Amino acid sequence: MSIIARAGLAARGNRGSIGALTCEERDVARIGFLGLGIMGRAMAANLLKAGFEVVVWNRSAAKCAPLVALGAKQAASPREVAAACDFTLAMLADPAAARETVFGAEGVLAGLAERRGYIDMSTVDDATARAIAAAITARGARFLEAPVSGTRKPAEDGTLVILAAGDRSLYDEAAEAFEVLGKKRVFLGEVGQGARMKLVVNMVMGQMMVALSEGLALGLKSDLAGEAILDVLEAGAMACPMFRGKGPMLLADDATTSFPLKHMQKDMRLALALSESVGQPLQGAAAANEVFKRATLAGHGEADIAAVYRVVR
Ligand code: NAP
Repeated sequence: MSIIARAGLAARGNRGSIGALTCEERDVARIGFLGLGIMGRAMAANLLKAGFEVVVWNRSAAKCAPLVALGAKQAASPREVAAACDFTLAMLADPAAARETVFGAEGVLAGLAERRGYIDMSTVDDATARAIAAAITARGARFLEAPVSGTRKPAEDGTLVILAAGDRSLYDEAAEAFEVLGKKRVFLGEVGQGARMKLVVNMVMGQMMVALSEGLALGLKSDLAGEAILDVLEAGAMACPMFRGKGPMLLADDATTSFPLKHMQKDMRLALALSESVGQPLQGAAAANEVFKRATLAGHGEADIAAVYRVVR
């Protein structure tokens, strides 16, 4: 039996059951998964393919079907998932979704028994992470925040970077699941530090997207070829997977969604709020946020972040 299976069974207590499956029949950890959007769907699928038992819930229930086809059990509420699983992962849109899923009448908090675990992998602000942590630990359960760096393809390939903070025993217990989901994980200490790290990283990324868009727009209007600009960027110190991936998308006006632009704008907004709380001026990020706001207002919120180019060019 795997480490995680042993840890899960040791902590199982009086778990609820989903369908005909009882805890006595299991020899692997049962993992809950809340939020089956672009990221969550791929992550839950990888856990199933790796042999974990997975219980899923999504606000729009129809999105559970592909996971059920892969062997997942479907639950009717976050409460039911949290009650039935050794620990539950969540990958939700934003702070409002994260709070509603925990604090709602049929939320995680209503189902989580003592010592069970809740791991929120959504990108939220540090205050939201701390509010959720406080409520969960007050119940005697354990909380870990674990936002991720990486987009649709790394989620599908299991090569995310996991930025965890909170309960160390839960971090260790989830190690085998994290192995499946990511290529690297870091433990950053107190709850809130994972959210802060994620916002710092995405604030840099947002500015890079605007810089690339402006570079291409300036170059094309100056009679340079777009491919030549990307080729020169790639040969120099600014070469990076993001420019390599997004550059050709900008030139082709391809905004097939890996990372919804509305979430990037949310992350810029949360990073700016963090900057105010710690007294750090962010002129570049504030300007980039305005570009993402303009793109959202122009109707590109559901498109990929590559669509920011549409309001720059
Ligand atoms: P997404 O495709 O928009 O999925 C969002 C998920 O949140 C869906 O399951 C949605 O349910 C759910 N949701 C929204 N509002 C809700 C509410 N009020 N109550 C309950 N559930 C709610 O987003 P995603 O790209 O998977 O991203 C998920 C999180 O990961 C976000 O925090 C994002 O910033 C972060 N992230 C994304 C990427 C990326 O490249 N995509 C990379 C790193 C981190 P419905 O299906 O019912 O709408």
